[in-house]
Amino acid sequence: MWMDLHTHTTCSDGQYTPEELVIRAGKLGIRALAITDHDAVSGTERGRIAAKVFPELEVFSGIEMSAKENPQLHILGYGIDGNHPDLQVYIEKNKRLRLGRRERMLAFLQEKGVPLTLEEVMAANDGRSSGRPHFAKAMLKKGIVSSVEEAFDRYLATPEYLQRVERPKPTAVESIQIIRKAGGVAVLAHPAKLKLEPSAFLELLSVLCEAGLQGIEAYYSTHSRKEMAWYCEIAKQYGLFCTCGSDFHGEIIKPEIALGTGKNGSLLLPEELKRELLQNFKHALSNRSNRV
Ligand code: AMP
Ligand code: ZN
Ligand code: FE
Ligand code: FE
Repeated sequence: MWMDLHTHTTCSDGQYTPEELVIRAGKLGIRALAITDHDAVSGTERGRIAAKVFPELEVFSGIEMSAKENPQLHILGYGIDGNHPDLQVYIEKNKRLRLGRRERMLAFLQEKGVPLTLEEVMAANDGRSSGRPHFAKAMLKKGIVSSVEEAFDRYLATPEYLQRVERPKPTAVESIQIIRKAGGVAVLAHPAKLKLEPSAFLELLSVLCEAGLQGIEAYYSTHSRKEMAWYCEIAKQYGLFCTCGSDFHGEIIKPEIALGTGKNGSLLLPEELKRELLQNFKHALSNRSNRV
């Protein structure tokens, strides 16, 4: 019984359409899949329709929101009402801000000696272009870098890029509030990516819990077993549930991350544990209306 509660599709910066992702998940025998596109919820419904041919596969609605405090501070929202007005405002605003960032990105790259055009970015990404991975893929196609990771390390995630080019983002507390208002459950994504000392991490976690955080992605592709155990222990202390997600984007964008199983099988967890994680996740989802 596999689960994967963190995946991306072409509705944001993933390689596969929601339909393609669901077919892959179904064929792998995944029983619980959440589509968590960046600032977008449009993939869930498409995924659910595609999942009808896999009666054992349940598709959960999701979203991933980036917060301004730290480039890796991301909040996952599950079971949200995609039509909630506050969520719609958030999604539209972020779509605009991402589109607005494109020109700044092209100018920044030009300045760094990378003569990329919007047409090239579009052409490399089936007509889609607003996410940073789309730019990275175009650079890869043009031979400017030899991997998506290199594009981020050299250009798209440097301190200078983050300071001068990045789009404005909400705070994590605001993201949690939007998710809760839209009837969803808020989960802290990939906590180890924050690279915080334990004391700073716990301080942040207290603030997020105060705002309505309910879960933590303890089981993440790049977490070590030790990190997984530590986050589970912390989750217990803070009354949070744990989730398991790969952050699958497709082989071109994140070649080392496999759907359902993570990095080198890092998410191949004991059957009972996955069952328990899924049960706790579903419990949080079914209780959410009384908790908002
Ligand atoms: P955006 O929301 O358009 O700024 O793009 C964010 C996405 O870029 C993340 O979810 C990742 O998929 C990818 N990303 C961010 N930082 C890195 C990095 N250092 N290396 C590889 N991919 C990254
Ligand atoms: Zn992404
Ligand atoms: Fe993320
Ligand atoms: Fe993600």
